[in-house]
Amino acid sequence: MPQAACGRTGKMRHTVPTASLRTVIRMKPFPVSPAPAGAAAACALCQTAGGTTVWRGSDFRLVRAAEPALPAFYRVIWQQHVAEFTDLTALQRLSCIDAVVLVEQTLRAQMQPDKINLGSLGNVVPHLHWHMVARWQWDAFWPQSPWSAPQRPVDDARLQKVREHLPALDEAMQHAFAARFGASRPEP
Ligand SMILES: [Zn+2]
Repeated sequence: MPQAACGRTGKMRHTVPTASLRTVIRMKPFPVSPAPAGAAAACALCQTAGGTTVWRGSDFRLVRAAEPALPAFYRVIWQQHVAEFTDLTALQRLSCIDAVVLVEQTLRAQMQPDKINLGSLGNVVPHLHWHMVARWQWDAFWPQSPWSAPQRPVDDARLQKVREHLPALDEAMQHAFAARFGASRPEP
């Protein structure tokens, strides 16, 4: 539970309990299960960018997915081939979820969607990645998940307006990531 404290202004502040945070940071990751031999060589996210690269760091990268019916769809992809979120250290997890939150904030500020969907599945590609998707009530899959069967035909006129904003959205993501995590690294 967050601790609440009142400053001189009387405004409620929330702080993370320091003892809890120390415990989390000292937690060791689960023993990483070694990937089967050749897993990285056969992994789509080790062999390809997984979308249009928007920002790239040493630990993770941000890409925009090629999903025509859901254009404002980004992925944070861990650079190392690990399957589970608990394969990361506590600090790595904080950094990764901070990136996910930054994408959500930027999507909300730039696109004003009806909802943001966040997800980490990896059943098909067991390489740690998070999905961040801006959703609207008019989109073809609403109110189901982005991976469900379409609920209605695509609305091309509304999609086109979203597509037209993608260059500015990518730029806003790049600026936000560079400000938080440093300059983007070149492709290897
Ligand atoms: Zn991989």
